[in-house]
Amino acid sequence: MARRNKVYEGKAKVLFEGPEPGTLVQYFKDDATAFNNKKRGIITGKGVLNNRISEHLMKRLNEIGIPTHFVRRLNMREQLVKAVEIIPIEGVVRSVAAGSLATRLGISEGTTLPRSIIEYQYKSDDLDNPYVSEEHITAFGWASTQDLDDMLSLALRVNDFLNGLFFGIGIRLVDFRLEFGRLYSDDDMRIVIADEISPDNCRLWDMETGEKMDKDRFRHDLGRVEEGYQEVARRLGILPESGPRDIKGPKVMQ
Ligand code: UDP
Repeated sequence: MARRNKVYEGKAKVLFEGPEPGTLVQYFKDDATAFNNKKRGIITGKGVLNNRISEHLMKRLNEIGIPTHFVRRLNMREQLVKAVEIIPIEGVVRSVAAGSLATRLGISEGTTLPRSIIEYQYKSDDLDNPYVSEEHITAFGWASTQDLDDMLSLALRVNDFLNGLFFGIGIRLVDFRLEFGRLYSDDDMRIVIADEISPDNCRLWDMETGEKMDKDRFRHDLGRVEEGYQEVARRLGILPESGPRDIKGPKVMQ
């Protein structure tokens, strides 16, 4: 990796200053964490796969007019993104009960919800990313009512699009987490999708077998973690049809 200024290092990615003003380079690591850093590990090749999967999905979103921070992929582990001001609120979009929704509300996992819903989490590792209401968000100034309207409308469009896209490749999109950023240009500001969209922050179940193909394999020690990510990439058409055997290490991904 060439020497350059690190702007931020998170659990799964590193951000570097980009080649031109207003850009950043997003580097994808193989590190995996769960339960707010209490569980840590390495998923070999994950960074390479998530870079490709997120590129694929963000590109499609850009193409249908849903704005994202994604500009272009640079190499196996890096992509160029627009620098945005990250809103400290994450949106969790859910169509099927799973994870904390199932436990918090006592709905059995796998139940299709009456409609897709969004829940908001305040981004704070110290507080374990607590769920917050719109009242909290506007009262504490984390986002305005207008921001929330824009975030909800973006999230529902992303949800509809991704639901259809994954349905087409035999995958049930159970839920996913989105990050939002404010993109400033001259005297204008608009909210765009930021971060990444990958099996790290989506729940993806095989439609026929119900098998999990996402980070839950790591969270709950289900085994064959790498294979889950590889299979998602393969079905998206990002990897050669011959499948996992061909893509043992990052090398063969180029
Ligand atoms: N999620 C995420 N990062 C986290 C926790 C969850 O991206 O730190 C995603 C997860 O992959 C799932 C969705 O958010 O798609 C909701 O997960 P869960 O119900 O387990 O979230 P929790 O309420 O436990 O944070």
